Amino acid sequence: MIAENLDIIRDRMRVAAEKAGRSANDVRLVAVSKTHGPEMIHEAFHAGQRCFGESRVQEARAKIPQSPGAASWHFIGHLQANKVRHALPLFELIHSVDTLEIAQVIQRIAGEMGLRPAVLLEVNVAGESSKFGFSPDALKSVIEPLLAMDRLEIRGLMTIPPPVSQPEDARPFFQRLRDLRDVLQDEYCVGLPELSMGMSSDFEAAIAEGATLVRVGSAIFGERQAKE
Ligand SMILES: *Cc1c(COP(=O)(O)O)cnc(C)c1O
Repeated sequence: MIAENLDIIRDRMRVAAEKAGRSANDVRLVAVSKTHGPEMIHEAFHAGQRCFGESRVQEARAKIPQSPGAASWHFIGHLQANKVRHALPLFELIHSVDTLEIAQVIQRIAGEMGLRPAVLLEVNVAGESSKFGFSPDALKSVIEPLLAMDRLEIRGLMTIPPPVSQPEDARPFFQRLRDLRDVLQDEYCVGLPELSMGMSSDFEAAIAEGATLVRVGSAIFGERQAKE
């Protein structure tokens, strides 16, 4: 079941990339395993999946030691300051740096631990008040202090678009993230190659707009039992 789902998703990713004139190798699949147990991660791993996404540090701490050692883990949830010390050694990429304050905490603790974590900046492209993430204007106003943090390797941007009825309707939000990335790259002369955008319902639209990381959960593992 999981192996079949992965085959289908990878196929759809390849087709979407080709349609957009991109190489399928330029888009990585993050299998979002939150709420699912280690058996399902083993199953996905045996089907060739290496990269997994978790949104809670506590849950990931319990799960990672029971999962294949060669799996790599991405943190995609809202990161609390008191979880940073546990999170840094576990995750290869943190997708969700959403305030200057949490970036400062990561900078300080990474310094203490001798680490240089790779991160993405989460952008709330539609400026929804209910959502985590920098508004595009807020990000422009703090990008300089963020880029000055020598312990953070800022690799790009991440977004979760507002709910839409058709996947295609999410495209303008994905486009907005890419445009913002392009502006920041030009103005600050930095490389921000990664765009983490697209989930089960809209990853093809995200790939059409330049996603390099898609975060897919339910289309691989089925519905989540517990509400996150
Ligand atoms: C849960 C989650 C996903 C995966 O959502 P699906 O709709 O199940 O694919 C992707 N990104 C984030 C940030 C999530 O929390």
